[in-house]
Parts: sequence; structure tokens; C-alpha cells
Amino acid sequence: MPSMTSPATAFASVSIPERLARLADLAMNLWWTWNDDAASLFHDLDPRLWDTTNENPVQFLQQLDPERFAVGLADPDYLRRYDAVVARFDAMLNADRSTTWVGQHAPELLDHTLAYFSAEFGLHRALPIYSGGLGVLAGDHIKEASDLGLPVVAVSLLYRHGYLSQRLTADGWQLDVPADLAPSAEPSTLVCDEDGEPLYVHVAFDRPEYPLRLAIWRVNVGRVTLYLLDSDVEGNPDWTRTISSRLYGGDQEHRLRQELILGVGGVRALRAMGIAPTYWHANEGHSAFHLLERVREYVAAGLTFDEAAERVRATTIFTTHTPVPAGHDVFPPELMDRYFAHFWPQLGLDREQFLALGRHEKTDHGFNMTALSFRLANQRNAVSERHGEITRTMWADLWPGKEPDEVPVTHVTNGIHLPTWTAAPVASLFDQEIGPDWREKSDDPATWEAIDQISDEEFWEVHCRAKSDLIAHLRERSRRRWAAGDFDPAQVVAAGPYLEEDALTIGFARRFATYKRATLIFHDPDRLARILNDPERPVQIVFAGKAHPADEGGKRLIQEIYWRARDPRFGGRIAFAEDYDMGLAAYLVAGVDLWLNNPRAPLEASGTSGMKAAVNGVPNLSILDGWWREAWLPDNSNGWGLEPSPLEGWAQDADEAEAIYEALEQRIVPCYYDRGPSGIPHAWIAVAKNAIKTVAPRFSARRMLIEYINRLYLPAATSSGNRR
Ligand SMILES: *Cc1c(COP(=O)(O)O)cnc(C)c1O
Repeated sequence: MPSMTSPATAFASVSIPERLARLADLAMNLWWTWNDDAASLFHDLDPRLWDTTNENPVQFLQQLDPERFAVGLADPDYLRRYDAVVARFDAMLNADRSTTWVGQHAPELLDHTLAYFSAEFGLHRALPIYSGGLGVLAGDHIKEASDLGLPVVAVSLLYRHGYLSQRLTADGWQLDVPADLAPSAEPSTLVCDEDGEPLYVHVAFDRPEYPLRLAIWRVNVGRVTLYLLDSDVEGNPDWTRTISSRLYGGDQEHRLRQELILGVGGVRALRAMGIAPTYWHANEGHSAFHLLERVREYVAAGLTFDEAAERVRATTIFTTHTPVPAGHDVFPPELMDRYFAHFWPQLGLDREQFLALGRHEKTDHGFNMTALSFRLANQRNAVSERHGEITRTMWADLWPGKEPDEVPVTHVTNGIHLPTWTAAPVASLFDQEIGPDWREKSDDPATWEAIDQISDEEFWEVHCRAKSDLIAHLRERSRRRWAAGDFDPAQVVAAGPYLEEDALTIGFARRFATYKRATLIFHDPDRLARILNDPERPVQIVFAGKAHPADEGGKRLIQEIYWRARDPRFGGRIAFAEDYDMGLAAYLVAGVDLWLNNPRAPLEASGTSGMKAAVNGVPNLSILDGWWREAWLPDNSNGWGLEPSPLEGWAQDADEAEAIYEALEQRIVPCYYDRGPSGIPHAWIAVAKNAIKTVAPRFSARRMLIEYINRLYLPAATSSGNRR
């Protein structure tokens, strides 16, 4: 059945002048998020409103005073930029696919559509349907797919309360404030049928006679379409309407219901819209029920379970993202009985056979979504070289008789979408020094040779601009919190009012998962205080990050940092910025001087924030785990690496904290403050430039996606599973 999308009603009551009418189209496609010149068209009409609407162009246009359009209309330069952006936008949308990267290098894939499933997508801070790195990676993946011209449809859930907005109490305790996402104020449109009625699909829970009804929202991401399923639909029982509303809230049963909606509902939504993917990528095990639904379809069409499973395997890619056991969903058999008793007969299986699909004796006795995914996907990968080794050992028992190094799981190291993560001042520097086509040839190391031609003066000036943008941004955030009246003076101190533009600034921002050890640098507080308070060579640290709402331990770590930030002995040189999200991340990764990462190895599967820092000329100081093990040069010429300690627990922490202090005292602080007569730190800049040159080509989403295409997508798309 062909389907159509409801007309864009988002701007029905807004009168945009004819000359600027296409702003509405730009607002409804997230392409603007990685095209700074498109973003500036909104920004320049009303910078303050752009900021207060969270850079959400849909809300922005809905709230803009119509008089403001006159600013643009009266400015020939604005109109010229508008025309150029619209022309590029149309060229992107209407391009003959044969001219794209995929058309040139993997033309077979133009006849195939990939379905990419992920429980979260981090695309922009105004669409808070992600919690951390996994979601941001999924977002970067589909943005790059758009750039390369790969035909992709993506599937996820519309979380109306998003993840959480973080507020800290005067006591430093994290409050989990739900976001409030109104689909009409987002770049999303409801998918409708030929009669203009909302298109619904149905998924059975524990009582198959009362299936749940799901609506489908469409979000445009360049040339890629993302479909978001939504259980908040009239006619559904009240208790079911909030199932898809929060990302990672609730208990195991809630989680299982969400995953049923994503997996089973996702396949049915694509079918209902007449979309026929020929290969499928499950980003982490959360979406693994989509595999069962596809098996069910084949069995309904007459295949045996084994034949059906073989077809599904041949056409499926599965990526696992963490070696942390708690990161893998496991559902108790009682829950599986409740929700799948009506389902397994449709697969041609009995209970035992069905539960065996999710068995992983080594770690548990429940239904393990990662084990299920490994069993039903022939293309399997981890996300860094080291994570590949760990994964093969961790899951070796799924392949009895195989040694870990024979386990058929490969790795594709993560990468970041450079046009998204390169800060505007740095991107203009690249435009000017490399040429505007650096984005299209970013995976070629030769592209980045030109970095050496940039004068140190110019390079430093651009970095200092990003740094002062960060500090101004942090001040403005805390000023607003103060003005809102619920912030006490001690909280203002913790938010970083004393940060200095001239001091070496360390950034540490990530989810407060325990293995990331956010408080490691406080291991010896006296020594840290001496480093920070050196009157000649001061050092300051900016922290940010959210703890999972159910993670008391993570919240205590945040509280500890908050108290340290207020402690006079650290001289106001520690700040905690509330509400870490993609917006704050963009300021931090470009605006600090050094990016710190000290996970407990080998638990950081890849990590991506350090890549974002490096491409902006901010070197890393990091434990050699995940991606940094592959990127670091042993002479420290592109950043600083710390060998993981062979010890365990407290002794390991002590050892690694010592190594951090020593690196700061002996090498990093002296290097930063070694200034020539002009006040420029030439030795530091050499490291920063080398960070860009070595990280940008190899840790870009472009390199990553091309690797997926050549090694995993082509075999899946052209496999025998796609016999017609
Ligand atoms: C990039 C990013 C992450 C992932 O960072 P890691 O280094 O992998 O921990 C998490 N959250 C946000 C908001 C990000 O932008």
C-alpha cells in the first residue's frame, strides 16, 4: 500500500514571506544541523529566540515575530546566502544517486534499501531521543548515509518525555526532569494513509486479542528517513499510552514492551508504508525482536523455521556496543512466556526451542537479546579492535568448539560525523586552508596534510575563539539559572564563574557510568589542588554528564564533583555544567584545551567524545582503551596515552591516578605553558595539529560507513537471502 505523509501543518498559522518560504522546508529536514550556513539563516533572523528555542527551527519559526523576516528581506547578503543554501538543499535531495559516493563505488546498493534499527538516535539537542554515545553514533551513522547517498530507512521510538533534563539541587543531587517533546513542535510529521487518516500498525502484548495501536512519525535527515513509533494514540488503554514516552525509564517489563514496539512494530510499520528493505542492521540488541518478526513473516509464507532463519541471518548485520554485562538486555523466562506464548507457534517452534534462541549460559539463564542477535545475524561486529577481542571471548560459548580468535565477530571502529562535530570556527579554518570539499574527502589522509600549512598564530586564534565561546556559554547558562530564581550562590560557584580564558582547561564530559570513573582525578585531592592552583601555570577542569535515573552510584559521583567544585581549596577552578547534551558537547569538545578520559579498561568499547575533541584540535589524555588504543602514537605526538595498570580495584585506581598526575605535572602543563616570545605555545600546537591529522581521516563516520558498506552491507544486500 502506498502511503503518504500529512501535509506540513507545522507552519499553518505562520506567515512566512514568499521570498523566504523555503525556510519551512529547511526547518523540516535535519540537514540544517550539519550545514552551518543553513543554521545561520535561522540564527541571523533572531539570535536570542534561536537560543531560547534550543535551536529548534520549527519552534523558532512558530514563535518568530513576523517583523523579523524584514531583517532578512532587507539584507542582500542574507538573501544571497538563502538562495545558495536552498540550491544546495535541493541539489542534495534531487541528486541523481549515480553521482553519489555509493553510486560511484557500490552501485549495487542503489537497488537495495537498508533498514537501520536503533533504540535511540542523537541527531540534535532539540530532539532528545538519545541518552548518550550509542544514540549519537546512530545519528552520525544516518547523517553520513545521507551524505554518501546510501538508501536507508531508520526506525526508532518517539519518546515524548525524551531522556531527561538534568537539574542539580543545592546539595548537588541530580533531579531527573522529563523533557516535554511535542511532535508538532518538532521536525516530525504524522504518517497517514491515502485517505489522510493516520496510519496505524498493531503489536500484541500479553493478550493478543487486544493489540496495541501504534502511530508512525516521520523525520527527515537529509536523504534518509527516520520513522518513530508512538504508542500515545487514542483508543489505546491509558496505561499503554506512556510505554514509548520515556527512554530507559521503568522496569524490565516496560523495557520488554518498548522493545516489542521497536522490533515487531518497526517491521510492521515499514510493511504498512510499502517499504521493502532487503538488508537490516540492528544497532545493539534492543531492537532484536525485529529478527523474530522477520522469521515469522517467512514462516507465514510457507518456509520452515530453519529456512526462514537462514534468510534472516544472511541479510542481517548486528553491532554490539559494550562489554559491560549490565549493558545487555536479559528477560526472565516468565516474561517471555507472558509476551511470546502466542508468538512462538507462529515461528514453528515450541517453548524450549524458542527460549534456546536467547540462551547464553555463561552470563545468565534468561532470554539474552545479544545472544539472539548473534544467532540471527551472519554479519556481526564490535566497535573497536580491542572490543572485538573482548567480544569474541565473552560470547565464545555461542560457537561451541571454537577458540575465541575463531569466533565470527569482526570489528568496525566507530567514527564521528565530521560536519556535525567540527565547530564552526574550526570548520571555516578548514574551508579556507584545505578547501570546502574537505568534508567529501575527509577519509583520505592526504586531505589533512594541509593542516601543517596553517600558521600557529592563526591556529591558536581559532582555538582561543572556541574557548571563549565555551566560557561565555557556561556563564550565560549559569546567569539564566540564577535569574530564574532557584539557584543558590554556592551553585553559581559550582557552575564555573571563575573560569579563566588563559588557564589550561581540561574537559571531562560523559555519562556517569561507574566504569568511566569520573572522580578518579580526585584520588589525591592535595596533589590535584597543587596542580590547579599553581599561580604561574593554573589548570581548571570542566565536568558535565548525566547519571541514569536509576543509578544512585552515578548520582553520588556527580554530587562528589559538585561539592569539590564548591570547595575553596580548589580555588574555583573546577566547574560542573548541568545538563550535558549534544549542544553542550559541541561547545566543550572544541573549547577546552585537553580532553580527559579514564575508563576502567577494557570496558570502554570505543568512546567517541575524544574523537570529537581531537578533530577540533583538542588533544586527548586518555587510558589506552577503545578507540584511543588505535589512534595514539607512542611518542605522544598526537596526544597522551596511559597504559592501563595491571592491578585491580583500588590499587588500579591509585596507579592510574598517579599516572595522570605525573603526565600533567611532567609533560602536559609544561608543554602548554611553554610560550614563545609571541605568547603562542608552539609545541602544544604541534600536538593539536597532529591530533587533527591523525584522527580526522581514520575516525570519521565516513571511514566507518565505507567500511560497513564494503565489509558488511554489500555481502548482506547481495546474499542468497535476497533470492526473489
Ligand atoms: C559524543 C557524546 C557521547 C559519547 O561520548 P563517549 O566518549 O563515548 O562517552 C555522549 N553524550 C553526548 C551528548 C555526546 O555528544
